[in-house]
Formats: sequence, C-alpha cells, structure tokens
Amino acid sequence: MAEATEATDAVVIPKPLGDLSEAELLRKRQIGKVSTETLRYLTDAFVSEGFDWLLPVVFSKSTDPLWPDPGASIEKRVETEIYGETVRTTLSMIIHKLVACSTAYPRLFILSPNVRIEKRERGATGWHAYEFTQLDFEIRDAGSNDVRRLVEDAVVGLITHLKKRTKGELVSLGRHSTIEAPARPFRLYDRQSLSAEYGEGWEASLPRDIRGPVWVTNIPREFYDFEDLSSGAWDNYDLFVPKYGEILSGARREWEFDKISSKMERDGVRKENYTLLLKLAREGRLKPSAGAGIGVERLVSWITGAKHVGEVQPFPKVPGTVYDL
Ligand code: ASP
Ligand code: MG
Repeated sequence: MAEATEATDAVVIPKPLGDLSEAELLRKRQIGKVSTETLRYLTDAFVSEGFDWLLPVVFSKSTDPLWPDPGASIEKRVETEIYGETVRTTLSMIIHKLVACSTAYPRLFILSPNVRIEKRERGATGWHAYEFTQLDFEIRDAGSNDVRRLVEDAVVGLITHLKKRTKGELVSLGRHSTIEAPARPFRLYDRQSLSAEYGEGWEASLPRDIRGPVWVTNIPREFYDFEDLSSGAWDNYDLFVPKYGEILSGARREWEFDKISSKMERDGVRKENYTLLLKLAREGRLKPSAGAGIGVERLVSWITGAKHVGEVQPFPKVPGTVYDL
C-alpha cells in the first residue's frame, strides 16, 4: 500500500483496551464484529475463487524496499541478526508473493502483518499504523483489469454481505444508511491528471471529492510494479475511498531480469537483498503476474466510519506511541 493521506476530520487517538469506558468498549465490539465478518467474507471469496491461503512470515532477508514510493515515510527499518545473517521484519510480502506465485502457488493470498515504523507525526493523520495487516494476493498471468474486476466484485459483495450480516452494528455505528455497494466498474483516474488538477497533494485532496471508491493508476514507485519504459507509464493501481484515502495498492509486475536489475540500479535498491528474486528472474523462472494488497484495518475503518485506523485494531499501533500490548 502507498502511504500518504492527510487527516480525516476529527481524528481521535485510540486508547488501549484497558482504558476504554463501557460505551467505548461497546463500540470496539461492534467494529470487531464488522471486522470479523469482513475477514470471513473476503477469505471465503478468495478460497472459492481457487486461491491458496498462505500463512505469513515475520523475518526474511528480502522484504519490500518501500522505495522509491512518493508516500513512504519510514523512520526506522527493523533489522536484526539471526544465525549470523541479517533479516528484516516484513514491510510487505510482495517479494514472497512474486516467488510463491511463480513457483508452487499460481493464485495465492496471505493475511500478512506489515511492520512499517512510520514517522511519529503520522499518528495524527488518523490513517497510519506502525503494524497493520494486508490481505495480499497475487495471480499468475493476470493483468490489471483482472485484478481490478476481482477487487470490485469483492468490495461490492462485501458491503452487501455486511449490510445484512452486521446490520445492527452498522446502524449503531451510524454507517448502515451511508455506506452503499458502489456501481461497477469503479472510475479510473490517471495520477498525472490528478497532479495537474490538485497539485502534489492529490492523495489528500482526492478523497474529499469522491463519492465512492475510485482507482488511481500510473503511480511511479518500487521496481516490482510494471513500467512501460518507452512511454514512462506505470501499470499499477491504488484504490481510494471517500474521506479516508488509499485502502489498496497493487500492480502488474515486472518479471524480466534485465528490467528488474536496471530498475534496481536506477533506484539505488541493494541487489544483495534480493538474491533469490534475481536468480529466478535470471533463470527465466519468474512469471508474469498481477496482484494487490488490501489494508484490512483501513478497509474496516472506511466501512465502520472509524475515527482512527487504530480504533479498528484490538491493540492499536499508532505512530509515535508504544503500548504495553
Ligand atoms: N501489497 C502491495 C502490492 O501487492 C505492495 C505494498 O504493500 O505496497 O503491490
Ligand atoms: Mg507500496
């Protein structure tokens, strides 16, 4: 997922479970129920579509460089040494997805914890957490349209499901009448035209102007997103929702060794941290694919009208604050 979004109105820094009043605990339980049904619906949908459900990992030599990404704001990268080797906590499982999808699991998804130690001022955006969960998926031989249609179906199906299964909770959270299953296909904007309209702050401005989820494509970022080097266009996409901002990032992927290698050199990404990926690409074993990661807590924040993304986390991880749990 991309990073930058400004404050939603009335950001309230979430409190830990032990400090909540009875009324706040009730709200926490209601959001928890919507979150549970969201996970039930989405995991069922992916399994029914023939996806394999992989379990996440915490430490790896390779992880998402999160660079270059115009929205990234990482204060610290968590690296440690085990068995004499440097490993990193998962920033995203994009590298694992590319390898897994090219080898044993052509259609896969993972509910993966991402540790991104955001700059502390991002605690006030209401939209960043320094640990969060992505529903990350990847499909071999797929293109951007395949992924966008799949996500649109999932979002529409999810909202329809939640409005029935969690009606009481959504009514009491004040969202049952305001959240609607959107019409498909969702509108698609090019990042260049958004920059022309709003300037560089388009990521913060766009959510104020839209009425339903919209796609943004052609965002320059990490080496693994597909870039047409002749036109300079990026075949990637983010999903933005009203008021809140970006809840999903994804792309068609690069798979050719020469391109990946030269993009890493261009971006100053250290090749020694991507040995396996580069080896597979060099041997022609990396396969074309497309995929995306849904920010689970952000999705649930939008659906429930949360005052802070940490409010939908049982154990909030708000940038700048270290909690007991
Ligand atoms: N999950 C994202 C993807 O599939 C990567 C990210 O976390 O930004 O592209
Ligand atoms: Mg990203």
